[in-house]
Amino acid sequence: MSNKHLLDAVAAEVVVCIKCDLWKGRKKAVPGVGNPESRVLFIGEAPGQSEDLMGEPFVGVAGKFLDTLLSETGFSRADVFITNVVKCRPPRNRDPRPDEIETCTPYLNRQIGIIRPRFIVTLGNHSTAYILSKARLSFRSITQARGNVYETSILGLKVAVFPTFHPAAALYSARYKKQLEEDFQRIKDELLKRGLVSPSIS
Ligand code: URA
Ligand code: SF4
Repeated sequence: MSNKHLLDAVAAEVVVCIKCDLWKGRKKAVPGVGNPESRVLFIGEAPGQSEDLMGEPFVGVAGKFLDTLLSETGFSRADVFITNVVKCRPPRNRDPRPDEIETCTPYLNRQIGIIRPRFIVTLGNHSTAYILSKARLSFRSITQARGNVYETSILGLKVAVFPTFHPAAALYSARYKKQLEEDFQRIKDELLKRGLVSPSIS
């Protein structure tokens, strides 16, 4: 079966999932979007209001900024796969709770197993904490982890993990915005170095 079919099968389960209480407040679950064959995976935190309405990750204000950051690297969201740690919107955009993360992340793990990413960009605290924990690496804060490339393995796959700030952080801090822009230039370099971007768009 193709990656697309396998990812569609995960998505079909997510949209009807009632494994944690977050299903009660959702309009639409948000399984993830992008190129099923991409080896580059972006992981955010959880859907917000716009995502909950559209059923797609990063379609609100933070998502627009993510699109800008991606286009500055020569990428578009169609070149990568984008998903979240938790697939349904937490009430009033509160942080996802540890029990919700534990209940939902088997979906993310399956997506990772299908995509077999070679490069994972974690956006913000929650996705960085989760992915580094899967790599059995210690995590103190996103400020400390950001900008490092962790050559590691998760779920039996060799992968480079690159943590950066959540794009929403750029909306309230000019400093975070600048650091995100720098991090995305670095991401571009790392992807080129690994042959993970096609020359036509780099
Ligand atoms: N913030 C996230 O972490 N994920 C989204 O999909 C949207 C906003
Ligand atoms: Fe299921 Fe995840 Fe939604 Fe909870 S957040 S209901 S585990 S898809």
